[in-house]
Amino acid sequence: MSLISTDLLFTPIPKRIARLRELAYNLWWSWHSEAQDLYRQIDPDLWEQDYHNPVNFLRDVRQQRLEAVLSNQEYLDQYDQVLSSFDQYLNATDTWFAQTYPKVGGEMIAYFSAEFGIHESLPIYSGGLGVLAGDHVKEASDLGLPFVAVGFIYPQGYFRQRLDPSGWQEAIYNKLNFADIAAAPALTSDGCEVVVEVELPGRTIYAKVYRIQVGRVSLLLMDTDIHPNSPQDRELSARLYGGNQEMRVAQEIVLGIGGVRALRQLSMNPTVWHMNEGHSAFLVLELARELVQGGMSFADAAEKVRTHSVFTTHTPVPAGNDAFPVQMIEKYFWQYWPNLGISRDEFMNLALQQQSWGPTFAMTVLALKFSDRHNGVSKLHGSVARGMWQWLYPEKSQDEVPIASITNGIHTFTWIAPEMRRLYDAYLGHDWERHIDNTNLWQKIHEIPDAMLWETHLQSKRRLVASAQTRLRGRLMRLGMETSGVVTLDENALTIGFARRFATYKRATLLFKDSDRLKAILNNPDRPVQFVFAGKAHPADEPGKLFIQQVYQLSQQTGFIGKIIFLEEYDMYIGRELVQGVDLWLNNPRRPNEASGTSGQKASLNGSPNLSILDGWWPEAYNGRNGWVIGEEREFTNYDEQDWYDSQHLYHVLENEVVPAFYNQDADGISQDWVAYMKEAIVTVAPVFSTRRMVKDYVTSLYVPAMGVSTTD
Ligand SMILES: *Cc1c(COP(=O)(O)O)cnc(C)c1O
Repeated sequence: MSLISTDLLFTPIPKRIARLRELAYNLWWSWHSEAQDLYRQIDPDLWEQDYHNPVNFLRDVRQQRLEAVLSNQEYLDQYDQVLSSFDQYLNATDTWFAQTYPKVGGEMIAYFSAEFGIHESLPIYSGGLGVLAGDHVKEASDLGLPFVAVGFIYPQGYFRQRLDPSGWQEAIYNKLNFADIAAAPALTSDGCEVVVEVELPGRTIYAKVYRIQVGRVSLLLMDTDIHPNSPQDRELSARLYGGNQEMRVAQEIVLGIGGVRALRQLSMNPTVWHMNEGHSAFLVLELARELVQGGMSFADAAEKVRTHSVFTTHTPVPAGNDAFPVQMIEKYFWQYWPNLGISRDEFMNLALQQQSWGPTFAMTVLALKFSDRHNGVSKLHGSVARGMWQWLYPEKSQDEVPIASITNGIHTFTWIAPEMRRLYDAYLGHDWERHIDNTNLWQKIHEIPDAMLWETHLQSKRRLVASAQTRLRGRLMRLGMETSGVVTLDENALTIGFARRFATYKRATLLFKDSDRLKAILNNPDRPVQFVFAGKAHPADEPGKLFIQQVYQLSQQTGFIGKIIFLEEYDMYIGRELVQGVDLWLNNPRRPNEASGTSGQKASLNGSPNLSILDGWWPEAYNGRNGWVIGEEREFTNYDEQDWYDSQHLYHVLENEVVPAFYNQDADGISQDWVAYMKEAIVTVAPVFSTRRMVKDYVTSLYVPAMGVSTTD
């Protein structure tokens, strides 16, 4: 696609504001709300209709609207200001990385992930893993890391969620038009488009490489939906986590092996290779193959690959770790292992794991064996992972298993409410962006007058209430149902959010164990409580879909109507509205299955305390004053017993601690008790559970050591 043809698709932009186009092609705008405002102000309805996608917006906007802002001096001032920050950002030479590692030159970190959650308009993520990867990329850009990210573009993305009248989840796939997103074909230094080739049984598969700019970082995405691939191969990257195991192994071969080849074609030679979860682990085979082809022995090649590889494991649920039957791997790799100079058995042994159904080639095993540095994503998960993989290190005790932990965080500016950001600007100083991980700075939050913090939170809460109303009404209209009776949220009631993937271990229905007791909590006329649910189940997860249906059907029962609502289509947009608008965030997974969890971190950044099981990140953050715990740090042998015990404790904490704290209000309707929890949540969570701290940890303890360079002389 040449530039000229795309140009013709766009409404011509007046010269004075012409750089709106350039801004649209760098996802820097996705974490700068003042940049998004430049589009929104031109045509607020169209901005919503185009789902906050400036590329689409600029194509659809009417000429008249663009011209109208030219006479608005305030708009033009804001335009100049945003573009000047954008330029400053891109040209900065005093980044944290440059200042901390002035001696490190010419190094590069390649970060591979099957999904990236950058913004709702780019549907190439399904949930927590992708959002974490997107946040990691944004922070790598903010800190000035020499960094490139590699993944897939899925022409049909992850599905959009609809609930039918019975509450059963339907998956809708829309074809993504590449002209609608900020992707451009990646070009080599001599201007050629990059297409990589990967061998699959009996055929070669081709993947075209696109580039999306995320601040200073390039995100390279491969697409197999191109000529001359067979129809089946064109479908290979059509959907995130779609298809059967055969499709999945092929997808992972393209991601790992094709990803390395894409970087080579772009003359990029990373010195650190980071596998975000096991999906991309085939990349280590390709790196070893390159070295063996260059004349090295396999043993030496493997040693070298290990030195420069980093692996992060994300799932303590055994079934969540990809493993393929060895026969399937044999079919896909019989032409490949001779290039490594090893036998079939030696090859299979690189990743062998015995499962109840037979021997498998396990991606986590491959990644662990081929990286010297690896980590889990919270302290508790690190310890669970050391237990899970101890069999790989028979000479070591569980404590000695070399899997460290770096606790997940969130990209602060992606998740903060614009209202809160303005308040923090006033109290933390306008350059707090440079000091997010400074815990002392956040003490200043205590200086915010209670009424001011509460009023600011209410602004976000009102946005959520209005948006929930619109969404519920929209669903009824779609189903041809009566809309006049839409009952929605009450902005004065204690509002509790629960939004996450509907994987069964997250126990979305735990709250309903004793529905009479719950009804009593919700319907107390003096102290009403309401819950907002959202979340998708994997399209093949029937029990997860049943959970959604149960929550939906309960929400239609007397005593729950208007008190429990379910919002369709959980994505980064609803995610933002929820974590910014609710008063409290609920998290009740079956411990210890939640590796970290990040949604509660987003809530606390915005002043919502957590009510959570002591799983994932929460045991590290909880201090008795920044939220509440459900249950204890103990292990159960029986699920029913665990569910019963946790649900009883959940009701108890709601009745005796949470609700009384919220409703201990003064004449102005403000609870000093509650605001104290809000402040403590912000102060303790914002600086620590931010990607600012997290990515610095990755750099210091994993990336720089894996570079194998001296940082001092
Ligand atoms: C933050 C986020 C997640 C991850 O949240 P968890 O707490 O790990 O469940 C998933 N999906 C979306 C859309 C998110 O924004």
